[in-house]
Amino acid sequence: MNYFSSNFKLGILGGGQLGKMMLYETRKLDIYTKVLESSKDAPCKIACNEFVLGDLLDYDAVYNFGKNVDVLTIEIENVNIKALEKLEDEGVKVYPPTKALKIIQNKATQKLFYTDNTIPTAAFSRFAYTSEIKDSIENGGLKLPFVWKAAQFGYDGQGVKVVRQIEDLNNLPNVECIAEEMVPFKNELSVIVARSASGEVVTYPVVEMEFHPEANQVEYVICPARINEDVAKKAQEIALKVSNKIQQVGLLAVEMFQTEDDQILVNEVAPRPHNSGHQTIEASYTNQFEQHIRAILNLPLGNTENKVPGIMVNLVGAEGHTGDVVYKNMENILKLEGVTPHIYGKKQTRPFRKMGHVTIVNKDLKKARAIAQKVKETIKVISK
Ligand code: ADP
Repeated sequence: MNYFSSNFKLGILGGGQLGKMMLYETRKLDIYTKVLESSKDAPCKIACNEFVLGDLLDYDAVYNFGKNVDVLTIEIENVNIKALEKLEDEGVKVYPPTKALKIIQNKATQKLFYTDNTIPTAAFSRFAYTSEIKDSIENGGLKLPFVWKAAQFGYDGQGVKVVRQIEDLNNLPNVECIAEEMVPFKNELSVIVARSASGEVVTYPVVEMEFHPEANQVEYVICPARINEDVAKKAQEIALKVSNKIQQVGLLAVEMFQTEDDQILVNEVAPRPHNSGHQTIEASYTNQFEQHIRAILNLPLGNTENKVPGIMVNLVGAEGHTGDVVYKNMENILKLEGVTPHIYGKKQTRPFRKMGHVTIVNKDLKKARAIAQKVKETIKVISK
């Protein structure tokens, strides 16, 4: 199939920053794109060929959007799966395949998939409603503390809450959920695996994530992770196993915990480009977005090695600021060595909203980390 400068159409569900960065690659290769998104000012608007307004969870919106594209992919998992199944039946190539997406969309199903396939993960119980958890604690079936997770529609830590006492359950939505054992981890790691339609598969180096303690959002992504080789190898093998077992096509970001005794437990996966792979744009031979396009078009996959170590800092809206965005001290960070900012193009900021990221590359990872800290302390995402 000829994808380049041709009639081929790639559809993307979701118009956020992940889509926008994917579109840099389709522009590079002159692949025609169409984006479905519900917000008229979404980041993808400036980079796609066709922008369609519509609700990603609405059957008709997704079905009508997808029926005249050749390949359909996503940049967010919360999409109408029934419409995707219908499109797949009618011959549209849907990547990630709906079977994989179905498993991943629901955290309970995802966890069951790990246990069924002997993929190491934290112990958990599944509940149809949050209100059922109290009984289970009272009759001794479930022990405190645990991590409550909404089965569906959680994003960036919003559907996750540590429950230390029964009262912590009071303000949680009464939805399908899981109660997961608290993992005393020493590191959070991620491995991105790319798998093409014909089954060619490659893994990126392991990255280490440092989280904001309150917002539950990644603050720094460090590549390569500062862990020993055996642990890195184990993490990559597990990530590869998940991608193969789930029969993914496209990228799969596998988030993992490294426990005190160096066990690796899979936390969750995302079947698309991921925040833990943004540094690949500057640091890798093949960035994650180009790799995703290669994988879903069944093209040869690219080299995943680092050209240089890289660190990514998320630019999130400062607390106490809501409204038209201003990036304060941008000139100051641009003066620092090896710094590349990415601004997603969201006009409005609010506390902890992901507005952009900054990549820092340096031959010396320690230096990169010091510069990253400086970037974090200098740039502020505020309102006018
Ligand atoms: P989301 O889908 O919102 O990203 P995650 O399941 O990744 O939610 O959880 C967000 C964060 O919460 C994790 O990155 C980790 O820091 C913490 N967390 C999640 N599960 C556990 C657990 N079982 N034990 C300890 N911390 C956890």
